[in-house]
Amino acid sequence: MAILKVKKRLFGTNGVRGVIGEDMTPDLVLNIGLALGSMRRGTIAVGRDTRTSGEALSCAIKAGIMAAGCDAVDVGILPTPALQYLVRDEFDGGVMITASHNPPEWNGVKVIDADGTEMADEQVIVLEQRLFDRDFSGAAWDRVGRETAAPHLVEKYIKGIVSAFPQGIGDGMTVVVDPGSGPAALTTPAILARMGCRVLTINGQMDGTFPGRLPEPSVEGLAGLAELVISTGAAFGVAHDGDADRAVFVDDTGQYVEENKEFAALESFVCRGRNGIVVTPVSTSRIVEDVAEQCGCSVQYTPVGSIYVARCMRRLIEEGESVVFGGEGNGGLIFPEHQFCRDGAMTVATMVHLLASKQSSLSAEIDRLPRYAMIKEKIRTRQAAAILDRIEEAYRRESIDRTDGLKVSRGDAWALVRASGTEPLVRIMVESRDKSAAETLYKDISRIISDLAA
Ligand code: MG
Repeated sequence: MAILKVKKRLFGTNGVRGVIGEDMTPDLVLNIGLALGSMRRGTIAVGRDTRTSGEALSCAIKAGIMAAGCDAVDVGILPTPALQYLVRDEFDGGVMITASHNPPEWNGVKVIDADGTEMADEQVIVLEQRLFDRDFSGAAWDRVGRETAAPHLVEKYIKGIVSAFPQGIGDGMTVVVDPGSGPAALTTPAILARMGCRVLTINGQMDGTFPGRLPEPSVEGLAGLAELVISTGAAFGVAHDGDADRAVFVDDTGQYVEENKEFAALESFVCRGRNGIVVTPVSTSRIVEDVAEQCGCSVQYTPVGSIYVARCMRRLIEEGESVVFGGEGNGGLIFPEHQFCRDGAMTVATMVHLLASKQSSLSAEIDRLPRYAMIKEKIRTRQAAAILDRIEEAYRRESIDRTDGLKVSRGDAWALVRASGTEPLVRIMVESRDKSAAETLYKDISRIISDLAA
């Protein structure tokens, strides 16, 4: 099993991504389809986001899958979590053509396993090996796969979410939705309307040129959403990234809700009285731990990446644990009773349920949360390993967690130092309830590694 020690070379934590016409080309995608089709049997669902290059790459992946002998079902444009939901229920695998939050000129491939989760690292390494070795062959003429179109299947996902909540729970609530010209234009407004909400949209037309804002929801990009929330007296605004596995919020006063606080607000609603486990990467704010404690829950930390969170949740459940909630501090939240992946529409539907049940406003919910000061920095360097060694030596007397990079704790302050997997840089996060304690710890770390920065 030595191959398992080979690191992934092409796929990152969220699939393969590249710039169209440069490193992301139809022949690469065709070969991924051939490699995947040679590893699998049965029917593979193919979906895409709204990028201009989506149709070409979707054709390429389907060609590869069918040439290798699998059938392809084209489910058309839809959010990544919608594809995952459909795959779990009725297909042997899936491929999503998306570059998530990357700019419009990017696109990529994300492979979904039959259980609806992203393909595990070990399988990705096998897929890459086949790709690099060109270890695939076309099926014979009487074994070539067939294609079916099934754009209507997205309706099952919409119904699946609506039916998870009390009927009419959104009655009387106005919500502004910003799908960012992405696939959530098909799903989130429909879901909220069926829950009873009055729905207004901005950037609600699917458009791969992204005329209104970039696929990454940012404070600047959501200025229009915030204005519309205020002028319409909406309960809140919600925006998705380019494939709608994430949701971020603007509260009733037009304020952008920091994503760790979004996590904590929903966590306090989902976890209350549940006595279970919340799963999140080591990079998430400690606010999540505070809220878990208030709810009688505990936190299990994982390496950074939603796939690690999802797989840890599944493993704990298989071991008989009660896992109630999970996700990342970037608006990507996982509701285990729904499915084991980040789901933007499920996140916003749960927010409607929260505000309606508590008869509360989003700004009040955020206000009530513990406050932390967080510092996030990137250091350009080609000596990431030396930086980590230096930190480990300097803080050897303190508590160090090695789940991903090094997480040093000092009192209620903590610092996470991690090497980037894709770029020559080291990421540093420091957090404390006390702003000056966070600043002191950050300055200490900067001093210790100053001569190793580029
Ligand atoms: Mg995404």
